[in-house]
Amino acid sequence: MEKRGSLFDVAVVGGGAAGMMAALRANSIGFKVCLLEGNERVGKKLLLTGDGRCNLTNTSVRIHNFHSSNKDFSFNPIREFSNLDTINFFKKAGLMVVTSEEGRVFPATMQASTVLDLLRLNLDENKVRVITRFKVDKIEKVNNIFKLMSKDAGLITTKNVIIATGGKSFPHTGSDGSGYKIAKMLGHKIIKPEPALVQVKLNFPFLNSIAGVRFKGKASLFTDRSLVKESEGEILFTNYGASGTAILNISREIPALLQKKENVSLHINFLPAFSYEELIKIINGLVEAYPGRSISNILLGIVNKKIIQVLLKGAQVKERDIPAINLSGSSIERITHLLTNWEFGVSGTLTFDTAQVTAGGVDTHDIDPDTLESKLVKGLYFAGEVMDVDGDSGGYNLQWAWSSGWVAGSIKSKQKQ
Ligand SMILES: Cc1cc2nc3c(=O)[nH]c(=O)nc-3n(C[C@H](O)[C@H](O)[C@H](O)COP(=O)(O)OP(=O)(O)OC[C@H]3O[C@@H](n4cnc5c(N)ncnc54)[C@H](O)[C@@H]3O)c2cc1C
Repeated sequence: MEKRGSLFDVAVVGGGAAGMMAALRANSIGFKVCLLEGNERVGKKLLLTGDGRCNLTNTSVRIHNFHSSNKDFSFNPIREFSNLDTINFFKKAGLMVVTSEEGRVFPATMQASTVLDLLRLNLDENKVRVITRFKVDKIEKVNNIFKLMSKDAGLITTKNVIIATGGKSFPHTGSDGSGYKIAKMLGHKIIKPEPALVQVKLNFPFLNSIAGVRFKGKASLFTDRSLVKESEGEILFTNYGASGTAILNISREIPALLQKKENVSLHINFLPAFSYEELIKIINGLVEAYPGRSISNILLGIVNKKIIQVLLKGAQVKERDIPAINLSGSSIERITHLLTNWEFGVSGTLTFDTAQVTAGGVDTHDIDPDTLESKLVKGLYFAGEVMDVDGDSGGYNLQWAWSSGWVAGSIKSKQKQ
C-alpha cells in the first residue's frame, strides 16, 4: 500500500479515452493532476476499438448521433470540442489520420495502439502523474477535499474529481460499472444501464443455414408495425441472430421494448438501392431472358447463395427446380417482398460482454452540460460513457469521450462555494 501524501487539484478516475483526455486538458491549463486507473495499464478498451483500428471520430457529427434520456445534453460538449477539434488535437499530438468513404476517421497506421501510444507519450511528456493498479472503491468529500479510497492501493486527496470510469460493456477491460456505485454514493441517480451497439438475437429456425452471410442492407426495428429506428450498412447473420453495423445501430432500444413486453421485429431489406417495383422488374426481366432457369438460379446473381433456399421456403415457393417462367406471378411477388422487407422476430440482445457501449448511466439531469460538473456536489465532474450518453456506431462514442473529457478537464466550476 503506497502512501500518497500530496493534495492534487484534479484527480481523474479511469484511464480510458475520456479520462486521458480530461487529465491532459486539466494539466494543460495548469492544474496539478493525477490519473487513477484500476488496471495495470491505461487504455485497455481503446486497443479493441474499430476492430483494433480505432475509429476515433467521424467527419459528420450531428446531435442525432448521440442518445440520452436527457435529450440534447450532449450538444454543448460536442460543440465545445468538435470532431474537427479531435482531428486537430491528434494531429498536434503527432498522429496522421485517414478517412473512410463513410466519413469514419482512423489513424493512418490503422492501429488503435498508435492512438494509445501517442496519448501515453503525451501524458508522459507533460508529466501527468499516472497511477495504475489504483481501483477507486469509495469517494468522500470532507471540508471541500475529496478523499479517494482504494482498499488495495491507498488514499488520494484532491480538490476536484472527474469520474471517467466508462460503462459496463466489455467488463474485462476494466469498465465494470464500479463508477455507477461511486456516483450513487455521492448522491447521483443512475439510469438503468443496458447493452447497446450489441448483436441481436432472432427467433428464426433456419439461422444455422444462413449464418456467415454478410451484405450491405437496411435494418429496420419495429414494434407492432410502428417503426422505431432504421439503419443502413453491413449486416451479418449468425447462429444466434444478426450482427454488423446496421444491426448494432438499431439495437439500443431493444432491451427496454422487450421489458415493456412489446412485440419487437427486425425487417431486413437485402437490396435497399432498389425499390420493390424496380426489383420485381429486374427479376421478371431475368426470368424472361433465361426462361429455362430455375428460380434458384435466377436468384444466384441477386442474393447470397446461402440465402436462396431459406428465402424460397419463407416465400412458400415449392417449385424450386421448374423453369421460373412457369412460376406464378404471386410467387415472384412473395420472393421480392421478402428480399425488400423480410420480417424476423427479435428475442433479445447479447449481453454487456459483447456490447460496444452502455446505454444509460449517471443521470445527466443532475450534471451541468456547460461544465460537466455535478449539480449536487461542487468539484465533482463526469466524462465519457459513465454518463447516460451513448453514440451510434461510426466513431461517435469516442468523440463523446474526447469532447466530454475536454470539457470536464477544463474544470469550469459555476457553483458557488
Ligand atoms: C469492441 C469495441 C469496439 C469499439 N469501437 C469503437 C470505435 O471504433 N469507435 C468509437 O467511437 N467507439 C468504439 N467503442 C466504444 C468506445 O470504446 C467507448 O465508448 C469509449 O472507450 C469510452 O471511453 P471512456 O473513457 O468513457 O471509458 P473506458 O474506455 O471504458 O475507460 C474507463 C476506464 O476506467 C477504468 N476504471 C473503471 N472503474 C474504475 C475505478 N473504480 N477506479 C479506477 N479505474 C477505473 C477502467 O479500467 C477503464 O480503463 C468500442 C467499444 C468496444 C467494446
